[in-house]
Amino acid sequence: MHDLTDEVLQRSPPASSEHARRVMVGNRSESAAERELRSELHRRGRRFRKQYQALPGVRCRVDIAFPGARIAVFVDGCFWHRCAEHVVMPKANRAWWEAKLSRNVARDRRNDQALEQAGWRVVRVWTHVPVSEMADEAERVLDDAQGATKS
Ligand SMILES: [Zn+2]
Repeated sequence: MHDLTDEVLQRSPPASSEHARRVMVGNRSESAAERELRSELHRRGRRFRKQYQALPGVRCRVDIAFPGARIAVFVDGCFWHRCAEHVVMPKANRAWWEAKLSRNVARDRRNDQALEQAGWRVVRVWTHVPVSEMADEAERVLDDAQGATKS
């Protein structure tokens, strides 16, 4: 995960209000959610790499990677990656935001495809999901992958 929030907000049109700004940033940033998930997985005895460069030459860092099992976990912020439940488009500078967020989502799908072609399984969790559920989902896929290689 790249916490683009501050960087993008500096370069983007100013939020029309403090409310709009809060909606963009969200109550829980991607980096905070990612940190929580890393601690939880660590507590459960899982070992992983963070910000892992899984594909040589491709600008795609995996938030939480299990290189042995080839599992890539991404923590996606509801605003930046457009979760269907919390999709909110700022009223001001709408066209700019539409283009920006569409590019984010298109890049996510391209990265998913590139990773899958290289034999990775991609798990994406939303920041609105409680951390225990994020960890359960990652473990389910991990155990599934390990079961598959054993059999
Ligand atoms: Zn959401």
